[in-house]
Amino acid sequence: MTVSQNGWPIDPPRTARLVDGTNTKLIVVDGPGGDILMYVARQFSARVESLDAPGPADDWGYAHRVIAGTRVWSNHASATAIDLNATQHPSGKRGTFNANQVAAIRAILSECGGLIRWGGDYSGGSPVDEMHWEIVGNFDQVAEWVRNHGNPGPSNRPTLSLGSTGDDVRDVQRVLNAWYPRMDPLVVDGVFGALTRSRVVYAQERLGLKADGIVGPLTWSALGFR
Ligand SMILES: [Zn+2]
Repeated sequence: MTVSQNGWPIDPPRTARLVDGTNTKLIVVDGPGGDILMYVARQFSARVESLDAPGPADDWGYAHRVIAGTRVWSNHASATAIDLNATQHPSGKRGTFNANQVAAIRAILSECGGLIRWGGDYSGGSPVDEMHWEIVGNFDQVAEWVRNHGNPGPSNRPTLSLGSTGDDVRDVQRVLNAWYPRMDPLVVDGVFGALTRSRVVYAQERLGLKADGIVGPLTWSALGFR
């Protein structure tokens, strides 16, 4: 079996999948590998930079090719790598994201439990590649991550809106602080006030949800709650 740099088989069964909350499609490997990449793409669009920004289509997944200048199959050949907003983050160029964006990128990588590498972290022989994200975990590790973190479907949590109080509100405040680490943190006081509402609207806009400031089943789910 021929594999790409990360050990995943090349030319696997694969599908063009729509990134939730965007008009962008990426061709990724079927199964959990595709699921974790779609998680990265959605979080990137919601928290770092919209994938639907004006300009040429520049988000890519599968490509049958080797790593430039080598005979090693690229992780794009196994449909386990994606390039996001490639024209704004050209290969070889460092510092194409601002500090806010890098903080959000670090948070997303951390949520992926070390199973995803960002090309901005390449060192040694590989040129830095800030558009590029790839799987570095094996199939079983990724499958387990998806079981624990994959799309949970609509949540059963209670719907929250301006004036709600309690531990559920605290959970929302905590996750919004984690998502937007460079914004003024919300006070985790369990009171759904105007500032919490405006942060919810901000997240909803970036998630492609109806930006109504109400945390219902779809918003809960998009925020990662079951
Ligand atoms: Zn790439």
